[in-house]
Parts: sequence; C-alpha cells; structure tokens
Amino acid sequence: MKKVQGNDSFQRMNYLYQISKHIAQINPALSSYYGNLMVNVAKKTVLKIHPEIKRQMCKKCKCTLIDNVSAKMRIRTKNKAKVIEWTCNTCDTKRNLPADKNRDHTLWVEKTEAVVEVIVS
Ligand SMILES: [Zn+2]
Repeated sequence: MKKVQGNDSFQRMNYLYQISKHIAQINPALSSYYGNLMVNVAKKTVLKIHPEIKRQMCKKCKCTLIDNVSAKMRIRTKNKAKVIEWTCNTCDTKRNLPADKNRDHTLWVEKTEAVVEVIVS
C-alpha cells in the first residue's frame, strides 16, 4: 500500500500552486509563502516546476505574479524585441520575459498536469 513518493509530491505541488495562485489576489505575502513551499517540495524530489509556472512566479519571493494585483506588468522594447517586464509588488524585484513566444501574456496554465514534470535521470 506504499504510495509512490513522486506522485505524492506531484499532487502536493499542484495543490500548493493552486493555493498560491488563488491567494495572490487576496494576500501576496501568503502567495509567496506557498510559492516557497512548492519550490522546496520540488527541491526535495525529482520533480521540477514547469517553465510556464516559473514564468508566473517572482524569482525572489516566489509569489504568483498577477498584473495589477500582486505585480505590475509593462511591455517594453529591448533591441527591437518585445519584452514583458514584471515588477513584483511584494519585494520590488523586476524580471523580463520575452513577449514573442506567448503573445497572450495573461494566459495562465490551467491544466494541473502541466504544473510539474518529472526529470528523467
Ligand atoms: Zn517578489
């Protein structure tokens, strides 16, 4: 009856991600707390956070970045390429993401199975 550890962690990370995302609209500090928990679960296991999810997290405090809620989003042009500049409201950290790939920057990965992927080692 022993459960597969990776699967447990997978579900736990999905759960933490959902909470972090949801709570960002109410309490960004709590979003950061759950974001950190998710990162810690990922570190302890063979799971890694999906790149699309990482894009939505502040690289410093790990809160979920939502425009006009937990962060400010601006489109800028750098070397003729469009970049999305996110500024975290919680810790003021800026991050730039290329805008060409995902033209719809408000698009969130809603599929829970997309949250994490297993590293094949
Ligand atoms: Zn932050």
